Amino acid sequence: MTAELPLATAPTALRPGLLDVPAEDLRAWLAERGQPPMRANQIRRQILAGRAESFDAMSDLPKLLRAELAASFSTFSTRIEKHLKASDDTHKLVLRLHDDRMIECVLIQDDGRATGCISTQVGCGMGCVFCASGLNGVVRNLTVGEMLEQLVRLRNLTDANTTRDDRAPRLTNIVVMGMGEPLANLDSLLAALAVAGDKNGLGIGARHVTISTVGLPAKIRQLAESGKQYHLAVSLHAPNDVLRTRIVPTNDKTGIPAILAAADEFFAKTGRQVTYEYVVLGGLNDQPEHAKQLAGLLTGRKAHVNLIPWNDVEGLPYSRPQEDDLRGLVETVRKAGVSVKIRKRKGSEIDAACGQLRRTVEAELTTEAQGNRGGA
Ligand code: SAH
Repeated sequence: MTAELPLATAPTALRPGLLDVPAEDLRAWLAERGQPPMRANQIRRQILAGRAESFDAMSDLPKLLRAELAASFSTFSTRIEKHLKASDDTHKLVLRLHDDRMIECVLIQDDGRATGCISTQVGCGMGCVFCASGLNGVVRNLTVGEMLEQLVRLRNLTDANTTRDDRAPRLTNIVVMGMGEPLANLDSLLAALAVAGDKNGLGIGARHVTISTVGLPAKIRQLAESGKQYHLAVSLHAPNDVLRTRIVPTNDKTGIPAILAAADEFFAKTGRQVTYEYVVLGGLNDQPEHAKQLAGLLTGRKAHVNLIPWNDVEGLPYSRPQEDDLRGLVETVRKAGVSVKIRKRKGSEIDAACGQLRRTVEAELTTEAQGNRGGA
């Protein structure tokens, strides 16, 4: 059963979102009003660690200051365009940005974990042929604040009974697997994750964060150099360069060997095992020869493979794999001594796969707009 929940958020803001205002600018703004610099953290903490959705709710601030803040900034720069909840407690939000673009983020709750899946770009420039996010290319990178707002909004939806402890429910994990290529927006992503990891922020440490990439070798190295314990997931999707270039066009410029070399370096520097994601497309990359090649590619590496049966995207000519083929992949890879799992499907009834809901919403809005024009 799917429920569309009523929305209770203010319209898209024209004032800058507070999470995008650099701390020093906020301190300068406060100084102009005779307020001490420590107020900057106090205000940010109310949004990040507390659950304030308006300045008025920040009851530890003087009333006049709350009014002045509200005149200059907005607590959130995004608006919830659509909120869907699936029967397995997965929530999906479509957020409208200040420039009317739309992105999506997902909350997955199971086994005592509450995982936020966030987008890093509007659209995606990588063009993987089976993916909904890249169908219209990339429009722009998301800002630090826009990435943080996704996390805060998802955290504000967490259920008390699904998070690990009795304190206020919180997000326990982050997966950067929404729309966009995270490593194409790496500096802002790292800045957002630093705030997410701070105890005054969301308190989600690097070891609980997975960053999924199409495989940009130089950026994988930069991530390794950051010295942080993020978990890296590389979207491999094919076991040889000819097939991978057909499925992941950017492979043309990189090639599998350079990606594996960068991922090996990431493992050597961080000690964190790399996950290889493999979207299984019926008949295309799931045959016995693919299984053998994949096993050959990863043998001897301390790696993990996540097989992801393709989620249908309307209009694309691919299909989900047959059970037998999927089982064949698992067995062959496992026999080669590489750990492998089939990824559980969560929230499929609410289009939870990458970029799918945004397209549905945009299509609906376009239909509405055409309907309106027709009626006028
Ligand atoms: N650009 C990053 C993040 C993308 S989303 C990357 O390429 O890794 C995370 C994962 O979901 C990627 O492995 C992506 O290929 C996969 N994915 C995208 N669309 C999908 C679909 N329709 N079905 C199954 N997996 C999909």
